[in-house]
Amino acid sequence: MEKRTAILGLLLLIAGSSCRAQGNITVYITKSGAKYHLSQCSSLRNSRLAIPLADAVKSGYEPCALCKPPVLSGGAAGGSGNSPAGAAAISGGLYRVNAAGISRSGEADLSRLLQAEAVDSVDGDTIRVRITGPPAGIKAVETIRLIGVDTPETVHPRREVEAFGKEASDFTKARLLGKTVYLAFDWDLRDRYGRLLAYVYTPDQGCHNAQLIRQGYGHAYTRFSFHFLEEFRALEREARAGRRGLWALQEAEKAAPL
Ligand SMILES: [Zn+2]
Repeated sequence: MEKRTAILGLLLLIAGSSCRAQGNITVYITKSGAKYHLSQCSSLRNSRLAIPLADAVKSGYEPCALCKPPVLSGGAAGGSGNSPAGAAAISGGLYRVNAAGISRSGEADLSRLLQAEAVDSVDGDTIRVRITGPPAGIKAVETIRLIGVDTPETVHPRREVEAFGKEASDFTKARLLGKTVYLAFDWDLRDRYGRLLAYVYTPDQGCHNAQLIRQGYGHAYTRFSFHFLEEFRALEREARAGRRGLWALQEAEKAAPL
């Protein structure tokens, strides 16, 4: 590590004819953002953490477009210097449930999962996480789409279901936000929107994807195949039979004449 930093610093001294030694520059990041900034940037209003520029770049942060902080190498300006490695390169370092020889979500070995901090929740089934020292191909801040579960849209024409989307979102927030979570992966690492596809675990609650379905906050999302599909389907059947959460509402709607 030290050697690498030294080489990096040397390169910078050589390359940075118009700049001072960039390796020692301090930049700033925020609690949940994916960019790094100069100290006066308006994006730092709510939170700021000082970090050496070299560490920010190494951790996958990208330069803010507003305050235009320095980039490490003149040739890599524009952010293309940090393009993620291909999926093949990262599969080695990540825990894939389909390759782990387990058949149920509860059997995953948390000590082998990728540790992250849940810094924001977007919806019941989507969160934002920060990963310290992410493996190649994973960014320091990622949006995670939980595999195999779909919670109600928070924008929905049916008022009751809309309200339940909020409950699902609150449930995820209460269970995960601000906590250390553990990420396991499956066949596909990302969806077509570039979101990371993962099973999200906590030491005390186990697999949150499964919990959402078990407690009736969402249904098993089976449009794309995943390793725990049969288990999640069974959890949904139980939740429906028990009229938990969402399914209690559906029964009520069915009973009421339109
Ligand atoms: Zn900025």
